[in-house]
Amino acid sequence: MNENTISYWNKTAQKEHYPRLDKSLETDILIIGGGITGITCAYCLALKGEKPVLIEAGELGDGTTGNTTGKITIQHNIIYSKIADEHGMNFAKLYAESQAGALDFVKEQVKQGRIDCQLAENTAYIFASSENDRDMVRREYEVAKELEIDAEYIEKPEFPPDNFGMLGFKHQAVVHPIRYAQALAKEAVLKGAKIYCDTKAIKVEDGDIKKVYCENDIVIKAKHLVMATQYPIYDGPNLFFTRLYAKRSYGIAVKAKKDWPDGSYIGSGEPTRSIRTHVENGKRILIVVGED
Ligand SMILES: Cc1cc2nc3c(=O)[nH]c(=O)nc-3n(C[C@H](O)[C@H](O)[C@H](O)COP(=O)(O)OP(=O)(O)OC[C@H]3O[C@@H](n4cnc5c(N)ncnc54)[C@H](O)[C@@H]3O)c2cc1C
Repeated sequence: MNENTISYWNKTAQKEHYPRLDKSLETDILIIGGGITGITCAYCLALKGEKPVLIEAGELGDGTTGNTTGKITIQHNIIYSKIADEHGMNFAKLYAESQAGALDFVKEQVKQGRIDCQLAENTAYIFASSENDRDMVRREYEVAKELEIDAEYIEKPEFPPDNFGMLGFKHQAVVHPIRYAQALAKEAVLKGAKIYCDTKAIKVEDGDIKKVYCENDIVIKAKHLVMATQYPIYDGPNLFFTRLYAKRSYGIAVKAKKDWPDGSYIGSGEPTRSIRTHVENGKRILIVVGED
């Protein structure tokens, strides 16, 4: 990573420094990976009175978390109609409830912990990127209504440009993902979790006691292991790596000359267009991600 490829979130957050693990240890619970998944896991376990250890190869949030759009939403492009078609409405309902639970969890932690991460409630829109996608977006709206999601359909929205109809889910949110994750990490440590950065796991041995070998001859023994590395680093018999492929998205964060409406937006088609607003010191910043 160099100065030109550091994300807006990583550039604008004050980052806490966590030490490198310099000796082998034993723990009940080891978490590998210090993105939003690993940090949330450490935080939740610490709230329950556990004392998890988290190791991160780089700095917290340096992976995907610090390079996302920071949308917290139950809307993941066209998903509910697909789940309903493949697994039925009950299953789609369960999925919607789980996502709503996660959204509420984030809002609640921010409120309770008074986390300064610019959480803003908004409407998250999927817009049809082409004439062909209009029916698909419309159907997603019908399924969302059936699932009692607070949704609206707009036939001819003015923003974003070149759209062919748009579905909006109300009461969604956006955050500064690094400020949010850093705050949870800090709280986890206060409650008894241990975090080590610059500590990379290189080999995992399964068993009643799991053994995780790290760089510099460090070995961690753990009763329970949580792999929160985004990509599998332990394959066991599954050969996950054969299904991985590289993908790159580009993002810009700008103070635009013209005004634009609030809300999060994602296009239904390719290339991906994901848009949101971030407000920093009262100034609006337009973030556009895509061109995968
Ligand atoms: C361009 C883009 C935009 C996105 N936008 C959104 C969005 O707006 N909203 C949303 O909810 N989701 C979004 N996502 C999805 C995103 O991937 C997840 O939401 C989330 O950030 C993933 O977090 P994570 O903790 O699982 O992974 P990561 O943030 O990637 O964390 C994994 C961590 O594990 C560490 N690690 C890996 N291997 C090792 C090892 N061997 N030893 C020690 N540490 C290791 C890495 O360094 C990394 O820090 C987006 C994804 C992309 C690619």
